[in-house]
Order: sequence, then C-alpha cells, then structure tokens
Amino acid sequence: MSEAELIARIRELFPRTGDDAAVDGDQVFTNDMLIEDVDFTRDVPLRLIARKSLAVNLSDLAAMGAKPLYALVAIGASEWVDVGALIEEVANAARSYRIEIIGGDLSRAAKLTISVTAIGEAKQPILRSGARAGDRLYVSRPLGGSAAGLALLGADLSKLSYAEREYAESAIRRHLDPEPETELGMKLVGIATSCVDISDGLSSDVRHLCVDAGAEIMRERIPVFPGLSGNVREFVLNGGEEFALLFTSPMRESEISARVGRPVYMIGRMTKERGVRLDGEPLEPRGFDHFAAR
Ligand SMILES: [Mg+2]
Repeated sequence: MSEAELIARIRELFPRTGDDAAVDGDQVFTNDMLIEDVDFTRDVPLRLIARKSLAVNLSDLAAMGAKPLYALVAIGASEWVDVGALIEEVANAARSYRIEIIGGDLSRAAKLTISVTAIGEAKQPILRSGARAGDRLYVSRPLGGSAAGLALLGADLSKLSYAEREYAESAIRRHLDPEPETELGMKLVGIATSCVDISDGLSSDVRHLCVDAGAEIMRERIPVFPGLSGNVREFVLNGGEEFALLFTSPMRESEISARVGRPVYMIGRMTKERGVRLDGEPLEPRGFDHFAAR
C-alpha cells in the first residue's frame, strides 16, 4: 500500500483524523515522530534532533492557527544516544519554542525514535477544507531550501567559495533546524480560509486544500530560496520538510502582508475545475511518500 492508500483507510477507521491536527472544542492535538535513518542520521547533533522533533509538531499546530501550549515526548533511545543530554536538549528546545513538556515516556529502541504529541489552543481553527474557487493561494516563505539542504548534507563544503558556503550552510540549516510558522499561523485566523504546512512537498500538499476546489499555480510566482541551485524545479515543487504554510484567502497579497506584518506570496488561485495545474498543465504529486516502493 502507498502512504496515500494507508491514509485513506485510516480516515475510514478514524473519521476525526485528516487535518494537520485534531480539534476538540478549542483544543488541538497533533503527533509527529522522527526516526533515525528515516528522518535523520546519527551525524545530526542531538540539539537539532530535539528541536526538529518539536518544530514539526508546532508546524502542524501553526497550520491550524493554534497557539502551542504543551507537548508529551516519547523517546526510544538506541545505544549510541546520551539520553541525559537528549533530555536537556528537549528542555532547551521547549524553552525556546515557549511550550511546556507535560509528560512522555522513555524506552530502548534499535534506532533513535522521538514521538511528540503537541497540544495547542485555537478558538477558530483553520481547517484544510475551507478553500473555495476564486480564493487566492499563498505560500508563507521561499521554497526549495530544505530539499537543497538535504542534498548537501555530508558534502565537503571546504572547497566552496565563501558565497557558495554561505548558501549551503543556510540551506542545511533550513533542513536541520526548520522554523515553524507559529506567529503567522495565529495571525491567519480570520484571513485564511484553509491552511496546511508543507511537509511532503508543494505538489503533494496543495492537494489537501483541494477539497471543494482545484488549484492553478503560476511557476514564476513561487518564491525560491535565495541562491537555490541544483535541481531547482524539483526542490521547489516536490521538496519536503519546508514547514512553510500553504493557505488560501480571498484577500489580496498586500492586504494580508499589511495585516500580518510580513511578506506572504500569492502563487495562484483556487479554481472550480478540479485537480492541480501548474501554468495550465496538470501537476503530478511527487512529494515524499514514506511507503513508496523504492
Ligand atoms: Mg501538516
């Protein structure tokens, strides 16, 4: 089964799943897990693994327009891990993201595994399903940096020019230490009609907003990570782990930017016609699939 097929079955079995986070009253709940050799390797410092394990969850809360409050952290530690140091790093990360760790579990595992449940508050959660034909489609920041950073991991940067090294380091940082769009997510309440975070890739995640509409994306309007080189088209359209917000709104770009106090980027429109198109041509979902045959 592909990840999409598994998720479809999960939706049938558990009908309240399916958004970036589950909603109960004004509380929202999400869970995301990082696993050694799937999501990171042991070359990555524990500090960054700890930060990312929280960040990916906070990104899902941001996509709901929620204020992050609490997290529960379960760690399956493999032999090479200094568990005490990892716990300190989780505490540091929670402090920097201004959330409180209120529980969790510790166990042994063949590969380091960190599963985080995050809880937030949203009086009016932004769902994936609210987009309507005619809404504008927005992305919160330039894309492609995370995939470029992943491709550069382990590369020898010492032979690069200063400018190339600056770019490589910032792309790697985008990949290893992504910034959840927490502040923006909360400000989009009352502005966005739908929202998702880009975890699998633009070409895949845009489909989550196409519940009641299609989408038409204009390639030249997609903001690109500064200095992006390599397979730019692939990185921008299909690169995962961006943790930018992708959202829809009837409002103009300038009006939203003024309201949220920072740039946002209109990349297209929601359409009556179903499906996703890029400059008029069908855009296939080519983002990350954990269960795809390799
Ligand atoms: Mg998400």
